[in-house]
Amino acid sequence: MAYDPQNVFAKILRDEMPCIPVYEDAQTLAFMDIMPQTDGHTLVIPKAPAETIFELAPEDARALISSTQKVARAVKAALDAPGVILAQINGAAAGQTVPHVHFHIIPRHEGEPLGLHASQLADPEKLKGFAARIVACLGAD
Ligand code: 5GP
Repeated sequence: MAYDPQNVFAKILRDEMPCIPVYEDAQTLAFMDIMPQTDGHTLVIPKAPAETIFELAPEDARALISSTQKVARAVKAALDAPGVILAQINGAAAGQTVPHVHFHIIPRHEGEPLGLHASQLADPEKLKGFAARIVACLGAD
C-alpha cells in the first residue's frame, strides 16, 4: 500500500502536529507516546517515509535501530527500569495503528501492569517530566 503522508507521525515530522521530543538526528526522531503503556513509553521513528519495516531502506533501518538502542538506554536509566520491551509492529493485521514505521520503547518493572495499547491519553505535563529525565540521561551518554 502507498505511504499515507497524512498519518500523525508524518505530520509530527513536518511540524504540523506537536510532540514531546527526546532525541533527534538527521535520520530519526524520538518522542513520548501520548497513550503510554507504562511511564516512560517512548517512540522512535525514521524521517524516511515508510509504512512498515519492509519499505525502509537498509541505511534508514540501521539508523532507526541505532537511535532506538541509544534512546532505550536513556529510557532505562531515566526510569530506573530493570527491563525494557522494544516492540515494532508491521501491518494492521499485527495491530499497527499508525502507518509510519516505529519502535516502541517500554520500560518494565517487576509486577508493574502493562497498560493497553494506544488506549488512554496521558497528562502532557507528566510526559514532559519523563522526557526531561530521558533527555538528561541522553546527555550523560
Ligand atoms: P502502533 O499501534 O502503530 O504500533 O503504535 C502507535 C503508537 O502511537 C501508539 O502507542 C499510540 O499510543 C501512539 N500515538 C498515536 N497517536 C499519537 C500522537 O498523535 N502522538 C504521539 N506522540 N503518539 C501517538
